[in-house]
Amino acid sequence: MKEKTEAELLAEELTYSPKHAMKQMDNSEVQAADAFCGGYMQFLNDCKTEREVTAFVQAQAEAKGFEPFDCSKKYKTGDKVYYLNRGKAIILTVFGKKPVTAGVRIAAAHIDSPRLDLKPNPLYEDEETAFFKTHYYGGIKKYQWTAIPLSLHGVVLLQDGSSVTVSLGEKEGEPKFVITDLLPHLAKEQEQRTLADGIRGEELNVLVGSRPFCTDSGSEQVKLHILKLLHDKYGMTEKDFLSAELEVVPAMPVCDIGFDRSMIGGYGHDDRVCAYPSMAAVFDAQAPEYTCLTVLTDKEETGSDGNTGLNSAYMQYFIEDLARMEGAAGYQVLRKSKCLSADVNAAFDPTFPSVQEKRNASFINRGVVITKYTGARGKSGTSDACAEFMSFVRRTLDGAGVVWQQGELGAVDAGGGGTVAKYIANLDVDVVDVGVPVLSMHAPFEVVSKLDVYMAYRAFKAFFEQK
Ligand code: MN
Ligand code: MN
Repeated sequence: MKEKTEAELLAEELTYSPKHAMKQMDNSEVQAADAFCGGYMQFLNDCKTEREVTAFVQAQAEAKGFEPFDCSKKYKTGDKVYYLNRGKAIILTVFGKKPVTAGVRIAAAHIDSPRLDLKPNPLYEDEETAFFKTHYYGGIKKYQWTAIPLSLHGVVLLQDGSSVTVSLGEKEGEPKFVITDLLPHLAKEQEQRTLADGIRGEELNVLVGSRPFCTDSGSEQVKLHILKLLHDKYGMTEKDFLSAELEVVPAMPVCDIGFDRSMIGGYGHDDRVCAYPSMAAVFDAQAPEYTCLTVLTDKEETGSDGNTGLNSAYMQYFIEDLARMEGAAGYQVLRKSKCLSADVNAAFDPTFPSVQEKRNASFINRGVVITKYTGARGKSGTSDACAEFMSFVRRTLDGAGVVWQQGELGAVDAGGGGTVAKYIANLDVDVVDVGVPVLSMHAPFEVVSKLDVYMAYRAFKAFFEQK
């Protein structure tokens, strides 16, 4: 082998150049990554909404010995509890060797994804065709949601207060739904619209039926037929839509992408691609040094407001309960706590290079991304992690051999965005975003790299195991 030149050796020592994860992993680790992603892909197929993720995680946690949190109990090292927030968010906790007043370790991911919510009065008939009116949830490019198979998920509270769970369009043989779009032949006028306006909010109408209840004369027989079917299946009437949360999501199954099967295509990687690894990491914690929390939250995609989002006090109240068990106040725990805001970043897309600044962008296959700040226009709306905490995170990941990279959310003034990080930082916690780079983020079918998913798991695990 040729000996390295002095310049090559110096460059190795002094320069920073992130590499493909394959160059930093051995064969067995790549196999472990692929195996880990098998479980992740199953999870993606099975859990498409915050309620479904919460129910899944709760069941997994119970099987692993987690019990519902009881603030009147005394807990010891290794004890495992969960706290459920309205069936739409969950906190998993493993008690550590140190008291909680030494601070806790938090991994926080969100489990809501962009989608279409049914309006409170959604069902209508037009020209003997029945539709649902929707209001989109989170940031979507509306034109991407037409002419693809869709499914319906959620819950309906009936007149008597009982609850019915809905999931239709996922299983083999079940009907699906769709939003129609114009044929190109007649889209001359539509194609003059801007891309943002190509499909408008009030055009996101979901096709749900087209046969009348009976051939008697009478108006809206198709709508009546749908109501009859809904009543037969779920016991609901039209009024019950008001006390329902019904969400329309893409119905395409998750799959490998590429000849080399290196990537995963599917709906809602943002942010289940961080939720699943952070769940797996806290399940691995047996007797950690610090008490470990995985927080899986709702409402991030609409700005974290609402009592199941992290701009509410539910996580703070939970930590206050932990503090009180040691006769301390919540702020005494929070101010010593550390958090990885487990959320995705926009991977560099070679087809659209102009929105990124290459030296500070994240790339698929270069490992988990540390995003020091998000926000937009002069770092507005970001918590911007401090140098000391960045140092802690970097050393933690390096110490565990985790492949990581740094990333910015797009070039300066190209756009921007935010995560739950700032709401946690505002509680006096040290926090930074760490997550998986995603291609086609917020599209009905997003893409991630398997190696990055695995490195996210390794990162959260290292964070929980750090002493
Ligand atoms: Mn996200
Ligand atoms: Mn998002």
